[in-house]
Amino acid sequence: RYLHFGPPSVAHGHEPRSGGHRMGHKHSKKTSPGEKHTSFKLFEYQCSNCSAKRPIQYFYRNGTFLPQQPRVVCGGCNTSLVVEPFKTVDYECPSCRKWQRARMPARPIPLNMYNVSVVSCNCGFRGEVSIGRLMDVACSHCWAHKRELRDVWIEEGDEVKTYCEPCQDYRRAYTQAPKKKGGGDPAADMEYTCENCFRVRPIHAEELLRSEGLASCSLCKWVGYPEVRPRGSQQQSSAATPKGHASGPSPKGASSSRRSTGDRKARVKPAPIDDEPPDPA
Ligand SMILES: [Zn+2]
Ligand SMILES: [Zn+2]
Ligand SMILES: [Zn+2]
Ligand SMILES: [Zn+2]
Repeated sequence: RYLHFGPPSVAHGHEPRSGGHRMGHKHSKKTSPGEKHTSFKLFEYQCSNCSAKRPIQYFYRNGTFLPQQPRVVCGGCNTSLVVEPFKTVDYECPSCRKWQRARMPARPIPLNMYNVSVVSCNCGFRGEVSIGRLMDVACSHCWAHKRELRDVWIEEGDEVKTYCEPCQDYRRAYTQAPKKKGGGDPAADMEYTCENCFRVRPIHAEELLRSEGLASCSLCKWVGYPEVRPRGSQQQSSAATPKGHASGPSPKGASSSRRSTGDRKARVKPAPIDDEPPDPA
């Protein structure tokens, strides 16, 4: 579903992993935000050719997105195409209390116009709600995590400050994309450690096949051929895959999901999962 707030406009777009001519082991340099006062936020587009959903940079200056041309070379299929970038956001319907997703189209408007939006929920509710991104927020101290609606521009791996209930204090915490329930769009089944920012990044085996092993880090824009392994076979960013059953996503009951843990300290360093041998196939 798209939310509309204004006429479409045309301008200049870039996919982080730009162009097929940039294959090879060249490491793309980091675009430092604030450079020349132009920075970008990550949006997505859906390729009309290979139907992959891919990241795209959408530039802004002085708190307002610039008019830009959304034409990219799809990193998945190397096709040049005009795309309509969108931001996938979450909101909690005030009527049915369910978490819903929506797509906000990229527009040359102030960034803060993406904080609230008029939505229509399939329960019949229609009105203005706060929007953002539902994230798993893992405490850097005890690695307990909870699901929270964060700023719409937050990305996986960002550092945030949050009140941690187990710690009973405000802590530094890191965001991760909430794990999806089975079915529909499958969660990434592989992962790799970015050779530039050294964070563990999820990747779809399917996507990897299409790109012949080329990966693009959505956090730092590094592009290269990483060593890929099955998801969860290495547990550096600990909270990524807690041992045992991840409780189903229950945004509202997030705090209750950790009861019956018994000894919480046992979870500080989750053990590697042995039943998934690394298999670089
Ligand atoms: Zn494509
Ligand atoms: Zn609703
Ligand atoms: Zn904590
Ligand atoms: Zn990276």
